[in-house]
Amino acid sequence: MIFDVVTIFPDFFSGIVAHGLLKRACAAGQVEIRLHDLRDYADDRHRTVDDRPFGGGPGMVFKPEPLFRAVEALRRDGASFPVILLSPQGRLFSQSVAREFARQPRLALICGRYEGVDERVAEHLATDEISIGDYVLSGGELAAAVLMEAVTRLIPGALGNEASSEQDSFAVPESSEGGGLPAPPELLDFPQYTRPAEFGGWKVPEVLLSGNHEEIRQWRRRRVLEKTWRQRPELLQTAPLGPQDRAMLEEIKRAALEPTAPMK
Ligand code: SAM
Repeated sequence: MIFDVVTIFPDFFSGIVAHGLLKRACAAGQVEIRLHDLRDYADDRHRTVDDRPFGGGPGMVFKPEPLFRAVEALRRDGASFPVILLSPQGRLFSQSVAREFARQPRLALICGRYEGVDERVAEHLATDEISIGDYVLSGGELAAAVLMEAVTRLIPGALGNEASSEQDSFAVPESSEGGGLPAPPELLDFPQYTRPAEFGGWKVPEVLLSGNHEEIRQWRRRRVLEKTWRQRPELLQTAPLGPQDRAMLEEIKRAALEPTAPMK
């Protein structure tokens, strides 16, 4: 997978490519992150990439010409690939959008700054506008980093342990065999615990120490449904739940309505 990142702050990415998953994926040749300084595509000696907005208003806007020139340069070898403009006005990024991008061999990412980017870039250059959430950042670099990290996790072989991305929140397991204990698709992950079995007086749920795989599977499924119902109930509308899941969910809802025992 090649990521071509167009930015006025290429140095911003030195930290994220020097650590963890992206560092490993780059070293293994699974991912290549090419950084392109937008100012190299300006046409004046001040390397200007922005200008005042037509119609007035505060701040500056990225001019279209340097961005069109930058993407034309990337396409010089005839290559065709999605061009993604990071923008709070884009369609919302999600695990399923990450899966869609992970199928591509190459992606170009355009990072805006200031008041944003001349609209002709969204209309005539970008093939997609992506937002990482309903809030406004100062630049597209953080958003590009989020997108690259989430997509790279899904590239076969990029994670040391394949099963761990199949089991993540929002995962759609490729098969039902992912270690035997996958979270149901499109739901939140179950809670994880590690040693010590007791810390600060808080004990790890006993079932996890029991060695009984069927009971552990049932407990995890229940916690997946319970956490999703409490934190992200809208996910339950579209998740493909089986009759056992539905029965469990009804039980969870009933239990939540029951009055708790009075404090002693
Ligand atoms: N005036 C713009 C608006 O309200 O839509 C916001 C511009 S923002 C300050 C500057 C740049 O940060 C944007 O061009 C975009 O590249 C990036 N950005 C900000 N928030 C983002 C988000 N939620 N998702 C993706 N990119 C974002």
